[in-house]
Amino acid sequence: MTLDNRWWSEAYTDEGVAFSLQVTEKLHEEQTPFQHIEVYQSTHWGKLLVIDGCVMLTSRDNFTYHEMMSHPALFTHPNPKRVLIIGGGDCGMLREVLKHPGVEQAVQVDIDEGVTRAAQQFFPELCESNDDPRATLLFDDGVQYVKDAADGSVDVVIVDSTDPVGPAEGLFGEAFMRDVHRILGDDGLLVQQSESPILHRDSILKELHGVMRGAGFTQVVTMQFPVCSYPSGWWSATMAGKSGDITQFRRADAEAKPFRTHYYNAGIHQGALAAPEFCKELFSDQ
Ligand code: SAM
Repeated sequence: MTLDNRWWSEAYTDEGVAFSLQVTEKLHEEQTPFQHIEVYQSTHWGKLLVIDGCVMLTSRDNFTYHEMMSHPALFTHPNPKRVLIIGGGDCGMLREVLKHPGVEQAVQVDIDEGVTRAAQQFFPELCESNDDPRATLLFDDGVQYVKDAADGSVDVVIVDSTDPVGPAEGLFGEAFMRDVHRILGDDGLLVQQSESPILHRDSILKELHGVMRGAGFTQVVTMQFPVCSYPSGWWSATMAGKSGDITQFRRADAEAKPFRTHYYNAGIHQGALAAPEFCKELFSDQ
C-alpha cells in the first residue's frame, strides 16, 4: 500500500499485477485484535474500505458483490425465512437480504466489531437496515457459531468473508462446511464468496467445489460477476444446495421483485450461471 502521488495500491505479486485508486486522505486506521482496518476517501470511487491491505469494498462498486451474493440464493430457495450471514461486517449483505419481505430473521456473525463500527461511521448507506427488527448483529467467530447452531435451523447461509487466510481460513474448510450442511433445512443453500475465476480457478475454486461436495452438498454452482475493485475485476460466488436443482430459480418472483437493485435481475441471474469454456470441467453441474 502506498499513498505516494495520492494513489492507493494493492499489488498481487504472485500474478504480477496491481490495482490502484486515486485517494485524497486516509479517514481511519485501526488495528483490532483480528485485523488492520483502513478507510480512505477516493477521488472517483467514494470511500474505500481496506482490511489487512486488501480492498473490501468501495462506495461505488460494492453493489455487484452484495447483490450477487444474496439475491440469487434467496430467489433459488423456495421460501427463505431464516438467513445467516457469516462475516459481512460492513452490513451491505444484511441490507440486501432484508429487502426480501419473506425473510423473517437475518443473523449476521462477524468476528470483528471494528469492521461494523467503521461501516456505521463511513458507509452509513450500507447500515441502513441494521435496526430492522428482523436483524441480529453478533460479534463472534463464524466457525464456532455454526458449530453450536441447531440442526436444520437456517434456510440460507451466506459466507461473506475475507480471503482464506487469517481469521477466515476455517470458513473455507470441510469441518465448517459439514456444520453448515447440518444446520441448513432440507432445501437449504450455502453461498460463499469464491474469489476470481481467472486468478483462483485451481487454487481456491476447485478446492471449494471439492470441499462442498465432500461436506454432503448434492449440487455446486459458481456464478460470475464483475467487481471492478477486486483482484482482476472478475469475481465469483459459489452456491451449494442440499437438494433440488439449484440451476433453477423462482424466475417470475425475481422478475417481479418488490425492491430496487442496481445490478441483479432475472436475466443477470441466469447469465451468471453459464460456465465459461475454461471452467466447464469444474462447473460440471451447470
Ligand atoms: N467482500 C469482501 C471481500 O471479498 O474482500 C469481504 C467483506 S468483509 C465484510 C469480510 C468480513 O469477514 C470481515 O468483516 C471479517 O471480520 C470477517 N471474518 C473473517 N473471518 C471471520 C470468521 N472466522 N468469522 C466471522 N467473520 C469473519
